Amino acid sequence: MLRPNDIVAVALSGGKDSVTLLRILWKLERRFPLARLIALTVDEGISGYRSEAISMSKEVCDQLRIEHVVVSFDQLFGITMDDVAGRQNELQPCSYCGVLRRKALNEGARRVGATKLATAHNLDDEAQTALLNVMHGDVERILQDSQTNTKAPASFIPRIKPLAEVPERETALYAYASAAPFQTIPCPHGHNALRGDIRVMLNRLELKHRGIKHTISRSIERLSETAEGTTRRRAFQACKLCSDPTPNDICEACLMLRTFKAEAGAMYRPVL
Ligand code: SF4
Ligand code: ZN
Repeated sequence: MLRPNDIVAVALSGGKDSVTLLRILWKLERRFPLARLIALTVDEGISGYRSEAISMSKEVCDQLRIEHVVVSFDQLFGITMDDVAGRQNELQPCSYCGVLRRKALNEGARRVGATKLATAHNLDDEAQTALLNVMHGDVERILQDSQTNTKAPASFIPRIKPLAEVPERETALYAYASAAPFQTIPCPHGHNALRGDIRVMLNRLELKHRGIKHTISRSIERLSETAEGTTRRRAFQACKLCSDPTPNDICEACLMLRTFKAEAGAMYRPVL
């Protein structure tokens, strides 16, 4: 996943998984003098939640002497998640948040000159995402989200998920054992998310059928590998509004932002 001279932007939300990932990469990085770590936090604009996470992230970075950069939805897109959640939308807040956070992380990583973007998705996240994509019937995303997808365009900072095979219980154990500060309160906009229901269901299944999360996650990988030879993935092109790579004319983030702004009677000006 990494080269000895990589500049690694680590997505640091302030939760246990990202704090664990940062600490592990920090330990590894000390053995590679040419490598550099930069912690990257996205402020989605969620009052009573994100400011605590940002101050905890800062505390961890100060302890480890790692540069900490914060990019915000407000600064990049002119909206906050509180704005999104406060309106009647077709989609749940988390659907907007996921797409916009992905764009914000890519933009932040590009701005700090990162050669890799490390995210703290664990095995539970991977298995949940796999089932979510199946439940949404989103075949293209199943193939794109796969860890073995090597077709991401060069203008995306390559993403790595070092904890993708580590169960959430183990990242939590590591975080508690390392006594690092991390945020434990839940996001106020996440209560209706389908992901939460899938999480509960998978945890129940895992108790009865050990290893089922690994099996689901690996099935998606195998599906993607099999599809590689049998289907033609759509080629990426530059988004007509922001120039980010997308399989469509306009990227998902620009579509969401343009619609959201139009409904509020405002013009959408993409980040370029
Ligand atoms: Fe965003 Fe949903 Fe996570 Fe809250 S729970 S930070 S709205 S993805
Ligand atoms: Zn775009």
